[in-house]
Amino acid sequence: MKLSVAIQQTAWTIVVCHLVLLPQVSSAQNNNSKRQSKIYEQYKEVADKIIAAGRKKNDAYLKLQELCDDIGCRLSGSKELEQAIQWAQKSLKADGQENVRADKVMVPKWTRGKEYCEMTAPRKLKIDMLGLGGSIATPSEGIEAEVIVVSSKKELDALPDEKIKGKIVVFNVAMPPYSKTRGSGYGQVVRYRSNGAIWAAERGAVAVLVRSVTAYSLNSPHTGAMRLYPADSKKIPAAAITVEGATLLHRLQKRGKTPKVKLYMEAKMHAEKAPSHNVLAEIVGSEKPEEIVVIGGHIDSWDVGTGAHDDGTGCVAAMEALNILRKLKLRPRRTIRVVLWTNEENGIAGARNYLERHQNETHVAGIESDSGGFAPTGLSIEMKDEKKQTIAAEQLADLVKLLKNINVNQIRTGFSGVDVGQLKAIGTACIGLQVDGRRYFNTHHTWADTVDKVDEKELGDCAITFAVAAYVLADMPGRLGELSDK
Ligand SMILES: [Zn+2]
Repeated sequence: MKLSVAIQQTAWTIVVCHLVLLPQVSSAQNNNSKRQSKIYEQYKEVADKIIAAGRKKNDAYLKLQELCDDIGCRLSGSKELEQAIQWAQKSLKADGQENVRADKVMVPKWTRGKEYCEMTAPRKLKIDMLGLGGSIATPSEGIEAEVIVVSSKKELDALPDEKIKGKIVVFNVAMPPYSKTRGSGYGQVVRYRSNGAIWAAERGAVAVLVRSVTAYSLNSPHTGAMRLYPADSKKIPAAAITVEGATLLHRLQKRGKTPKVKLYMEAKMHAEKAPSHNVLAEIVGSEKPEEIVVIGGHIDSWDVGTGAHDDGTGCVAAMEALNILRKLKLRPRRTIRVVLWTNEENGIAGARNYLERHQNETHVAGIESDSGGFAPTGLSIEMKDEKKQTIAAEQLADLVKLLKNINVNQIRTGFSGVDVGQLKAIGTACIGLQVDGRRYFNTHHTWADTVDKVDEKELGDCAITFAVAAYVLADMPGRLGELSDK
């Protein structure tokens, strides 16, 4: 996917946190080989047991409250993130998990400080905003300037320099609404958040404001990462403003008025990196403990809201999946390892460190949940080897039949997750836990990403999906993506 390429190109950072559109290759209704039906027959009984146990008692929602309500948001470099990392280890130990530990990772530290945005002409109005992760500060007196609103990069390119120089560029680019066939429009417009400051600075702008990357707004600004300023380019402050603010400025401009805005930001990228950690815990395999199936999410979040859907739910669903299996005393042939990656939002240092440290271990498969803790719908799969990917997709289509009672039935090929996707390079089958993503971007990276937006039963079903998929992938005789005659 284009987005994965973009991620690899930048040290800091275009973090996607979600994906959107995947070609569907098969559904659970397809049954086109004897091999596939074996997975179903072999694991039907145990899957039913896991589902029943996960429906009867499921602590994912309780764990989410401990993480999000008790600790709060968890930006890289913050004490709250390290508190969350401590909490996760304590919780996993209390559940009786094996090899609970933390791998040290150095992460970038960016802090927001105070910030505001105000329209000063043609009338005074506060515009709700959030600085973009990685942005520099404004001068201490702020920046007050006329705005120039554009609705695309092309429109910016077509403007003469004198229309841009000394102005605050506003990118008013609407994110297309969610559609059943195309998914969310996030991937189509997130580049304005990532690159807007660089594009505007090149043309002589003094600051950039980007319309929040969301298709729905109740005046909430959405933060997110921007790309590192290239070493040789001018740096200008960058912030996201509300859809309401961006569209107002645009309407005023279209009616021939010249709106002015004052922007104040204390944002700072600290020179020193900060210590953080990935959290690991296991059920060690009974026959092939050296072969690993990873399940997880990212434990860091933005510094607004409490990172409930992004990605507290991914973390607690993986933790609770291991708990459900542990309580059932299910020990598969291979090892199931929970990994809670740090620094997904603004650096991906956690996933890169995990790959570096563990690349010589045999990772059969990895499943990541980083699209919110909504009702699970299926799995996406990507592998370096396309032939293996095709086989794996067929095997997964059989596997999800085990989950049809909780409406998990879609298998797609394509993007898995930002963190787990790093393992693609070493041949791992990288899998994304897909959910009903209609509402994800309404609160993504906002103050409203809080526990009340998470449905207890839907989150519980994410944990069950993780548990069934991880157990089968860790226990099936042959490896995912490889033909086995057993
Ligand atoms: Zn995320």
